[in-house]
Amino acid sequence: MTDDDYGAIPEQARDRWRQLVSVINEARNAYYQHDAPTIADDEYDRAFRELLELEERYPQLQTGDSPSLSVGGRRAEMFAPVEHLVRMYSLDNAFTDDELEAWLQRVSKGAGQVGDFLCELKIDGLAVDAVYVDGRLRTLATRGDGRVGEDVTYNAAFIDAVPKVLSVAKGASVKQVPPLLEVRGEVFFPVAAFDRLNVEQLAMGASPFANPRNAAAGSLRQRIDRRQQDLAEAESKAGERGKSKVERLRKELDLAVGRLAELRFTVHGIGAIDGASIQRQSQGYTLLAALGLPTSERAKVVPDAAGVRAFIAHYGQHRHDVEHEIDGVVVKVDDLAVQAQLGETSRAPRWAIAYKYAPEVVRTRLLDIAVNVGRTGRVTPFAVMEPVRVAGSTVSMATLHNADEVVRKGVLIGDMVFLRKAGDVIPEVLGPVVEVRTGNERAFVMPTTCPNCGTALRPEKAGDKDIRCPNARSCPAQLRERLAHVGSRGAMDIEGLGDKSAAALLDCGLVQDEGDLFALTEQDLLRCPFFTREPSKGETGTQLSENAKAMLAQIDVARTRPLWRVLVALSIRHVGPTAAQTLARTYGSLRAIADAETAELSQVDGVGGVIAEAIREWFAVDWHRAVVEKWYANGVQLTEERVQTGPGLLDGLTIVITGSLPGFTRDSATAAVTDRGGKAAGSVSKKTDLVVAGESAGSKLDKALSLGVPVVGPDGFAALLESGLPAALANRTDGPQA
Ligand code: NAD
Repeated sequence: MTDDDYGAIPEQARDRWRQLVSVINEARNAYYQHDAPTIADDEYDRAFRELLELEERYPQLQTGDSPSLSVGGRRAEMFAPVEHLVRMYSLDNAFTDDELEAWLQRVSKGAGQVGDFLCELKIDGLAVDAVYVDGRLRTLATRGDGRVGEDVTYNAAFIDAVPKVLSVAKGASVKQVPPLLEVRGEVFFPVAAFDRLNVEQLAMGASPFANPRNAAAGSLRQRIDRRQQDLAEAESKAGERGKSKVERLRKELDLAVGRLAELRFTVHGIGAIDGASIQRQSQGYTLLAALGLPTSERAKVVPDAAGVRAFIAHYGQHRHDVEHEIDGVVVKVDDLAVQAQLGETSRAPRWAIAYKYAPEVVRTRLLDIAVNVGRTGRVTPFAVMEPVRVAGSTVSMATLHNADEVVRKGVLIGDMVFLRKAGDVIPEVLGPVVEVRTGNERAFVMPTTCPNCGTALRPEKAGDKDIRCPNARSCPAQLRERLAHVGSRGAMDIEGLGDKSAAALLDCGLVQDEGDLFALTEQDLLRCPFFTREPSKGETGTQLSENAKAMLAQIDVARTRPLWRVLVALSIRHVGPTAAQTLARTYGSLRAIADAETAELSQVDGVGGVIAEAIREWFAVDWHRAVVEKWYANGVQLTEERVQTGPGLLDGLTIVITGSLPGFTRDSATAAVTDRGGKAAGSVSKKTDLVVAGESAGSKLDKALSLGVPVVGPDGFAALLESGLPAALANRTDGPQA
């Protein structure tokens, strides 16, 4: 390049290029040398992508040391160098379907007849190179700069997943172990091990690993031999005073070795090979598997682009059904001759592409840690963050559970933090990026008084991690949460009674507590703007909004909801739908439950001591009883329609309901069976005790008839619910007694 060429590039572009190179080099250093990234992968990918685009536009920018020309890593001095027999590469990325399409077109243009594609999961781990001579592991090395990697052979002894000796499996088509074999693969942690590891990291006061790749790299790139030497030395010298050092070194060594033992290994490429001829990469995997090397069972050969897209779509949906994390799919041309024809750039093969899924770990600023007071008074700190897009949605808040957890995660207000959201899972702050602290961050201090009502906060019992606002009766936050809970699906299921309407009811002074809910009238709601609308033509005065009318109607319907829902709605600690259903079935009325002794309650199946105690404590509080009385006075049904004491009428029976039954929805028919202790199954088998067939019953009825399972209609169902199976069988419709 002449100076003139360079001079022709706009200054802005030159500056930007320099800026990007510096960002990328710094990020690579943190990522590859220290296994501790300071920016999120998608930020890195964006910078890298911009660099490539800039260099495409101004090719003169691409100097020999541009990051676009190297694979990224470098050997750290603490490891001996290992020269790979065949170069290792990085992969080009496709982040969108269009980019995938462009790659597909490039390969077919470059090769003409491409043939099959081999689709594999892109394991989020660390690339290693293993060389076997006469079937014995000679070296295990990291990728390094692609030509020279780091020697971690010593550590391989502790990684069971890396075979030390290869042998030919019985019946394999290959006859002998190749005298020289170089394979490439991924060393990684399964998700469960990765999560455990991060708990350990935090417990030691270290930053958590941002992803399984960094965890694998951090664990593999350790000098175990040095640790062993240090320990031996300390042991030989240890007097009384040196004991604690020995102890510490031993612990660290155990931890390091323990981490290696948890690593897994999957091979995904062949470097050099003597004594075997392979035509296709997939065929290579069959050979490697026959030699005892771990290959992936999920790799799939597909004939065309449609197959590639289907594979990508499938794992986009099932990303979290795999035991290890994947950050995408690698698509390779299967035919090795075509691979050779397409060749490589200085950084990546042209015959492969990594399709990357949306990132699940991002970096954002922790703006504040606020606290939320929940339905039972529990005070929960939560992270308030700069909104950031992660795994398909924008996230700005994440729970931090309790003050101990804030300390455990080591986050300070103002920190850059890594945030994870895997699929539909709740967002989680992983931990701080310690390296980019400015010194202006500050520690979170748990408040000592309730931010909503000013009451002094305290743990319920000494030693509890959670602290609570004890002002259960009138703390506005607790009241609002309890009211909204009454309306929730799992409780009284009152559509329209959620957070906002609960807050409005309280703000307008329409209810003092949940006890007043069922006394609400249209007149009451008209006093609160939230529930009203402007009059339309022809109307006079403020009108109730449609939503408010619907809510009132729903409140009315809720008066006759089953007893178990009332129990759940009362917000008795630990009483969820399951315990509530058994209690309702066993006692039949709220009064009977209120009067039962702890010992008696704890005998009820699925209730136990803790729940029994919580029920007793709840009913011992005057204002709780007052809530119940108010509900009763306002027509809330506090008894089970059909009282069932002792064992359930349908205990141990499996019933299948098919078709529609007059007077029942599918849910209420199922509930009628389960309320009586029966199991409502979805399919008919020989074990089914009874099939209830309503109108338009279909294949389940046919199956029952073919298996000889008794069948009844609506009358039989009524008899079943009233008096049990024998009464139902007297109403059989399938022949024998019909
Ligand atoms: P890459 O991880 O995007 O792809 C290449 C690697 O994929 C291979 O070396 C191999 O280890 C791995 N791989 C997994 N499964 C494979 C399979 N089935 N077949 C073939 N290879 C498979 O490339 P890279 O050069 O190792 O790393 C670049 C990426 O690393 C970036 O895209 C970014 O996500 C991340 N990175 C992040 C930072 C940061 O600061 N956050 C810095 C540098 C790199």
